[in-house]
Amino acid sequence: MKRESAQKTALERVKHLFSEAEKAFRRDPKLADRYVHMARKIAMKANLKIPRNLQKKFCKHCYRFLVPGVNCRVRTKEQKLIYYCKHCKRYMRFPLK
Ligand SMILES: [Zn+2]
Repeated sequence: MKRESAQKTALERVKHLFSEAEKAFRRDPKLADRYVHMARKIAMKANLKIPRNLQKKFCKHCYRFLVPGVNCRVRTKEQKLIYYCKHCKRYMRFPLK
């Protein structure tokens, strides 16, 4: 029970950090990356899985905040979403439902 509420709080904080990252990105992409870093730490500590819609907002290889058309490329192929990170030049795949 206690753990559940801790996870809920952590999730709220993670969501908040991602929305802050989104706002910060335009003027300071490095700050956005820091928000991602903080969000990941919170999630890890609470043993929380970052929701799927937020997983697409950062690179799982270099953990940078990603904005399609700016620092990442998005395509779909065979029912999958493919994200290409321009920083580390690696791909992430997400199944499309
Ligand atoms: Zn990357």
